[in-house]
Amino acid sequence: MPELPEVETVRRGLSPVMEGAVIARAEVNRPDLRWPLPERMAERLTGARVERLWRRSKYLLADLSTGETLLVHLGMSGRILISGVTIGDFHYPHPAPENHDHVVFHLGTGARVTFNDSRRFGAMDLMPTAAAEAHWLLRDLGPEPLGNGFDEVYLAARLKGRRTPVKSALLDQRLVAGLGNIYVCEALHRAGISPLRHAGRISGKRAAGLVPVIREVLAEAIEAGGSSLRDYRKADGELGYFQHSFRVYDRVGRPCPRPGCGGTIARAVQSGRSSFYCPRCQR
Ligand SMILES: [Zn+2]
Repeated sequence: MPELPEVETVRRGLSPVMEGAVIARAEVNRPDLRWPLPERMAERLTGARVERLWRRSKYLLADLSTGETLLVHLGMSGRILISGVTIGDFHYPHPAPENHDHVVFHLGTGARVTFNDSRRFGAMDLMPTAAAEAHWLLRDLGPEPLGNGFDEVYLAARLKGRRTPVKSALLDQRLVAGLGNIYVCEALHRAGISPLRHAGRISGKRAAGLVPVIREVLAEAIEAGGSSLRDYRKADGELGYFQHSFRVYDRVGRPCPRPGCGGTIARAVQSGRSSFYCPRCQR
């Protein structure tokens, strides 16, 4: 499942292809994904110019010249492919249509953006741009972890008095938007905080220390995604997925990578999801 860095990588890959381009034809091949697609979606998108492509949490948003904003969520298995474009000295020809190519944007530039989703947990919606932030999927989200609203004072205040494990607190999208299982595990390891520790029992100083490490793990992953984007020949026109090495995630039984620790990565199940951590250096 794509997390924030993957979605940001998709946005950065799509941005030069879509921003400023007109959707000459929108091909909508089925009435629904996870939920019904917007009414008359193809008609409402046709002729619209993409003014700005942005991201909120794990949602991609395209502000259109029609005054509407298109929301795209990749869900579990959603993939976005670009074709008919030349990037660097590499040209992506249009691929043959595939099963599960549910929505295809044919751009005025000759480029094509294809949304393929075999399991259909993805979603798309259209709303007035002025009301985009109030959309039901976005309105309750906490601050962006890479934005100014997420700082030491904010996080310490939000963790204080909380009885849930810190892992669950950080996965709460109302506290901070877009953090998922992988990057929470990685950040807690770097901060030396056990995922099992109750949020309210972390000192203000240690809670404050979580902010820079959360930003760091996300920024490094986005940078890794950017590197994969630059390596276009491997990307096949598919955006957002890249090989990334994790320090603790999915590394149960391996030695802790913290210099001098000597511990072994363990797994615990919390709220039905695996936490990977080092019991020796994460307290
Ligand atoms: Zn360790």
